[in-house]
Amino acid sequence: MKFKPANNIQDLQYFGEFGGVNPSISDSSTYTFLSAKTMFDTFEGNADGCYLYSRHTTPSNLYLGEALAAMEGTETANVAASGMGAITPAILQICGAGDHVISSRTIYGGTYAFLKNFTPKLNIQTSFVDITKLDLVEAAITENTKIIFCETVSNPLLEVADITGLAALAKKYDLKLLVDNTFSPLSISPAVLGADIVLHSLTKFINGSSDTMGGVVCGTQEFIDSLRSVNDGASMLLGSSMDSMRAASILKNMRTLHIRMKQHSKNAHFLAERFESLGLKTVYPGLESHPSHELFKSMMNEEYGFGGMLTIDVGSIDKANELMELMQHENLGYLAVSLGFYKTLFSAPGSSTSSEIPEEEQKEMGLSDGLIRFSIGLDNDIERTFQVMLNCMQKLNILEKEAITV
Ligand SMILES: *Cc1c(COP(=O)(O)O)cnc(C)c1O
Repeated sequence: MKFKPANNIQDLQYFGEFGGVNPSISDSSTYTFLSAKTMFDTFEGNADGCYLYSRHTTPSNLYLGEALAAMEGTETANVAASGMGAITPAILQICGAGDHVISSRTIYGGTYAFLKNFTPKLNIQTSFVDITKLDLVEAAITENTKIIFCETVSNPLLEVADITGLAALAKKYDLKLLVDNTFSPLSISPAVLGADIVLHSLTKFINGSSDTMGGVVCGTQEFIDSLRSVNDGASMLLGSSMDSMRAASILKNMRTLHIRMKQHSKNAHFLAERFESLGLKTVYPGLESHPSHELFKSMMNEEYGFGGMLTIDVGSIDKANELMELMQHENLGYLAVSLGFYKTLFSAPGSSTSSEIPEEEQKEMGLSDGLIRFSIGLDNDIERTFQVMLNCMQKLNILEKEAITV
């Protein structure tokens, strides 16, 4: 039977304390016990259904975690205060001094900086590889390797990871495959394809209103319990716990995630096709020209499309900046980092979200400084949006005249 992530979310039924249609928010940092013995048992991890202290978990956080686990098809999940607050403990729970990580070289700048600059202080070394080449990934495995880390659709180059192939490698060498699925919620279900752990920044599409940070680790009950352990759990001890109020608000926003993702994908696909036909260097997994178009198709939950992210290359950082300022002036979207908002957001990753990556490495991975990353919004009239964008590009002489077909 086909995996239906949005159905799985909708099939969960929760009621609030007074029969509310939304679960009650647990507005408490600590919880009482009727007996001292139960408190002891809870610390020992032996009292199911008892709450201890909100850094550990809260009823509101469990509701949100359950919905995210249902979406990803994992046993359970642990929410965190931000995406980085989910990613970093997941890595540190698995790796200790002397261990080795293999990571895609095109990943979110914060994750890159963590693996490149921070974890070496703990003597955890990372090899950055072209994740689209399974032979290079396999060649990088050493006897100390514990993790293969990648993003399903990478930031900002929109490279697509072969999750099934990577999962087979992870299995063969007894490694854990960690997949950051922030760019492709609902569209791709990495755990169903064999990933061990699926991570998200909830800050982006899943919450979708650019009003909060959030993150999640989806995995087995055993792994999530280990993250929350009062003795040696990285989530519990590093303390990036989500607040219950936010868990409740993100859960409510998840109710519309499937509708939003379809619209983001529809709009992005439309614009990508138009941009490409204008002769602009356009990267979008839904385009046949994308090197991993067929791979994406083979992994996707079709109805959600190819996602809301696309990039174009306008040749230079100056042109990119001019275009972005003009587009903001024309109210086509905002010159801002982040993604998944109702408005289109655009930024030049070379000088912003990927600025942690040294210039020569940016070049090597194909991150040119004229690249603009778009998170396409929920525009109701995307043809109108395109016409105004086209006017902006013409005004700045971004298109070679003869290429314009409109
Ligand atoms: C934003 C982002 C993160 C980090 O999440 P925060 O919520 O900002 O901490 C991680 N991975 C990807 C792909 C992202 O886009």
